[in-house]
Amino acid sequence: MIIVFVGPPGSGKGTQCELLAEHLGVTHLSTGELFRVQMESGSELGQIAASFIDHGNLVPDHVTIDIVKESLGEAQFNVGCLLDGFPRSVPQAQALDAILAENNCQVDLVLALDVNQNVLVDRMLARKRKDDTLETIQQRFDAYEHLTRPLLNYYQNRNVLVSVDGNGNIDRVFEGIRRAVANVQSSSSNA
Ligand code: ADP
Repeated sequence: MIIVFVGPPGSGKGTQCELLAEHLGVTHLSTGELFRVQMESGSELGQIAASFIDHGNLVPDHVTIDIVKESLGEAQFNVGCLLDGFPRSVPQAQALDAILAENNCQVDLVLALDVNQNVLVDRMLARKRKDDTLETIQQRFDAYEHLTRPLLNYYQNRNVLVSVDGNGNIDRVFEGIRRAVANVQSSSSNA
């Protein structure tokens, strides 16, 4: 199964994605994490990514799509994988569809984490990540509204979107996710 996590900054995508990856025994790919590794190493890609991330902007689609293409391999296509923070725009979703189609797979489930704005800001300021400053947070919410939210419609039209209440504690949210995944697993085994 290929499962995509979508949610605003601070919605807990990374945390939930790790739990689900362990639960399903598959790998997960986080574009935010990939960029952070590159930034720490000081590579050219890291410097390009930092020039966007430090201002709360999305890294350009072509840069992001290239790094995802490099990171996805046979194992992910055959066994399945979880995607955290990618796609984050409609062009990225279209590129992902093309990559998956070339490998005879498709997005099976999109988990949209729904979290109230005040909870998001509290979580982001509590985790003390370098890009979690009050200045960048508003810009990242704006980018989410303009570029990422349209993805929900894109996937809803494909009947793969499931919204999960992400306001509760980690275990409670994970319970909702586990249920959504189990529903898809049982409907695909009945097909
Ligand atoms: P969050 O969801 O809290 O913003 P992430 O770790 O997913 O945290 O992403 C951190 C930053 O990395 C984002 O604010 C964005 O600038 C950049 N980024 C991550 N994924 C993408 C993507 N798919 N497209 C463009 N930029 C991305």
